[in-house]
Amino acid sequence: MVDRRAVDDSAASDRAAVPRRDSVQVIRSVTDPDPVPVPAPVTPVDAPGSTVASAVAAAVRAAASAVDNLLTSLIDFSNKLGLVVGVANKRSISWAIAQATAEAGARVALTYQGRFEERVNELAQGLHTPPLVLPCDVASDSDIDAVFAKVDQEFGGLDFLVHGAAFAPHDELSSPFSKTSREGFRMALDISAYSLIALTRAAMPLFEKRGGGSVLTLTYLGSERVFPNYNVMGVAKAALEASVRYLAADVGPKNIRVNAISAGPIKTLAAAGISGFSSILGIYRDRAPLRRNIETSEVGDAAAFLLSDAGRGITGEVLMVDAGFHVTGM
Ligand code: NAD
Repeated sequence: MVDRRAVDDSAASDRAAVPRRDSVQVIRSVTDPDPVPVPAPVTPVDAPGSTVASAVAAAVRAAASAVDNLLTSLIDFSNKLGLVVGVANKRSISWAIAQATAEAGARVALTYQGRFEERVNELAQGLHTPPLVLPCDVASDSDIDAVFAKVDQEFGGLDFLVHGAAFAPHDELSSPFSKTSREGFRMALDISAYSLIALTRAAMPLFEKRGGGSVLTLTYLGSERVFPNYNVMGVAKAALEASVRYLAADVGPKNIRVNAISAGPIKTLAAAGISGFSSILGIYRDRAPLRRNIETSEVGDAAAFLLSDAGRGITGEVLMVDAGFHVTGM
């Protein structure tokens, strides 16, 4: 939100820019070249405590507070209902998005993949409003149907959907790309890209009950550029980003938006499956304009913006949240 201190500081520097009057003012008359000393006003207009200074400070505070309120009301998830797919543990990017939206007032449902049941249930206890927690293998149409039937029954509609599931068999992320197997390719594309289409389709009737909706998925720059061992995941992310655009065009007339965040590298469970991932982290730290890696909370905040009414004019977009790495050439 607005940094009031920054606003107050700039007000102070604006004040400093106004030439200060000395306690005795010197006025030169055109007819009389000799300086005539005259007493200064008792309270200079720019002095703290003067009527003008307090009025300016009050106006600056009021403006900052108005901007604050505007942003807070736009990124306000009160009465919003969301489904977040892809939480495995506290480091999951989906978890950061669930936290950011829940903290802003959303009621969320979380889904987990079988083996993460216990961990996701534990995490769920930490949210302000206890979420609905459901199993979902995104490669299974019957699982997807069951999730949306339950969400419809409990929530009666949906305002947003977060797609944070991705997978490729380990061998595909360590062998030369030319050795990509047919089955590895199929699985990576099915779980990491097709599932966005299946989940969005299933969410549509629930979005329509609420007059529209917002979908967000997570991608990576490996869709456009080559990163060592990212291999078939890069191809899956390219398909995912193209799906974002085609879905956005398809469902836009129903007031449903579809966007992606392309996150910089973060040490998560999925990332641990990519051989040599630590060296990618190091290169980002050295070369990204911000000279650091990003944190999951930064993706969570950007996601909250895109999912909220503040992002209401944005669809079919891939927003880079990568400390600026994507703009670098060398
Ligand atoms: P993560 O391991 O926490 O999340 C990946 C999730 O995918 C897990 O919850 C896992 O259970 C789920 N998943 C895999 N197969 C599934 C299936 N068949 N059904 C249902 N769920 C399944 O890791 P993460 O890094 O938070 O990944 C979330 C998303 O962010 C992924 O799409 C990933 O590609 C993307 N991303 C990650 C990074 C990074 O560096 N970590 C960078 C850019 C984009």
